[in-house]
Amino acid sequence: MYFLFRGGVFQGMSEDLKAICPGTFDPVTNGHLDIIERAAKIFDGIIVAVAENPEKKPIFSTEERVEMLEECFKELKLENVEVASFDTLLVNVARKYGARAVVKGLRAMSDFEYEFQMSQFNREMDENVETFFMTASPEYTFLSSSGVKEVVSYGGCIEGLVPPRVEKRLKDKLGKGGNKHE
Ligand code: ADP
Repeated sequence: MYFLFRGGVFQGMSEDLKAICPGTFDPVTNGHLDIIERAAKIFDGIIVAVAENPEKKPIFSTEERVEMLEECFKELKLENVEVASFDTLLVNVARKYGARAVVKGLRAMSDFEYEFQMSQFNREMDENVETFFMTASPEYTFLSSSGVKEVVSYGGCIEGLVPPRVEKRLKDKLGKGGNKHE
């Protein structure tokens, strides 16, 4: 990598700085989107990596989760964000896309303990991949995919917590007619 310093602006960076935003996204929430939008302003490109995670028994298929994310980014006009699914080590995804950074959102200390361990594991697997933590926006610190699923399954309101099209899909899957707690 080299830089030419012209008129106070660095020009000629030889490579784009790409970051991976990994998660299960079952489904994507406004908390995820907030982190991704903020990261997309800092990095040249973001790869939102959807973990297949069958052991977590997601209610949406991998294809559905990818599709919902793609719809959101189209609507938000985030052109430097792409979505991919994976079923391998995260460092392999980073290598595949030429990304040197992993961005994770932190809601609380409980997130930190788990994410800190994961970042150390990833460093052990590939020391060139760095993990960056971004703190959740205050309005989303309580928000989780599992939380919205639980609220919808009991018929509660999740307006403002997920995009409207995701809300509809959740209601179709878990709400009236398919309420698993009925
Ligand atoms: P969840 O924990 O909601 O099941 P994921 O496994 O999909 O979500 O999480 C992917 C990443 O998004 C993790 O780094 C997680 O800490 C982050 N994240 C999840 N919800 C939020 C939120 N409300 N605000 C900020 N980051 C979040």
